[in-house]
Amino acid sequence: MRTELPPAVATALAEARRIVVFTGAGMSAESGVPTFRDDLTGLWARFDAEQLATPEAFQADPDLVWGWYEWRRARVRRAAPNAGHLAVAELETRVPGTVVITQNVDDLHERAGSRAPVHLHGSLFAPRCTGAAAHPADVPDPGADPGEGGRLTPPGCAQCGAPVRPGVVWFGEALPRAALTTAIDAASDCDVLLTVGTSGMVYPAAEIPRIAMLTGATVIQVNPDPTPLDAVCAANLRGTAAQVLPALVAAAQR
Ligand code: NAD
Repeated sequence: MRTELPPAVATALAEARRIVVFTGAGMSAESGVPTFRDDLTGLWARFDAEQLATPEAFQADPDLVWGWYEWRRARVRRAAPNAGHLAVAELETRVPGTVVITQNVDDLHERAGSRAPVHLHGSLFAPRCTGAAAHPADVPDPGADPGEGGRLTPPGCAQCGAPVRPGVVWFGEALPRAALTTAIDAASDCDVLLTVGTSGMVYPAAEIPRIAMLTGATVIQVNPDPTPLDAVCAANLRGTAAQVLPALVAAAQR
């Protein structure tokens, strides 16, 4: 499908030297990885996702939480990057001053060819020990897939024996400091920020597009539905990541 871009969007991209691509779960939807709020089927419909994504939930029922994340990891392993991920990687080639900031815990940007996406919410592929030293854990990949809703006992840390936990940021936890600093610096110093497939409801990540707008960047949103970020965007392109991003990238300079 060919997407016609508003002239102001095409001009902003053609002139941009520093671009931030800020992505959320909608970025991976067309790869078959369900979003959090849109999915009416599967685990998100049967469990309160926020009840599974807290340190308290892991403490109360580690097998349920570890099983849920191992199921998600296996599901991501079976998925492939979509045309939107590939377009983002192409943008990095065209405009070397491009920074990809993602809230996603999958690795689809990397597998599409993005150089060093900043993972604000951690990664399914970086489990670590729950002990104070937070050793990185060596968990086989692909690991066991317990299936949807399946339980799995977390392995013990090879160094100290404490249970291993998913390497993601849970509700109530701080974002990784280096990732957040990189994201804020990039958003404060870009010409264009593309916000793609995020509901813009989880903070502090949702501040990133606003920071770009306040520091003078043109903020462009790609999302089939309205979000609270509509108000900070110069253009709201109602379409999916795989439909719209290739047209946006074609408009960027070489
Ligand atoms: P989200 O599910 O809240 O929003 C997804 C957005 O993508 C929606 O606005 C939807 O309209 C849009 N979308 C759907 N399909 C699309 C497509 N094909 N192309 C473009 N857009 C599309 O996801 P989010 O905004 O990434 O959530 C933010 C963060 O909230 C997540 O990174 C996560 O850390 C956290 N969160 C976690 C959990 C959990 O782990 N249990 C639950 C909820 C939120």
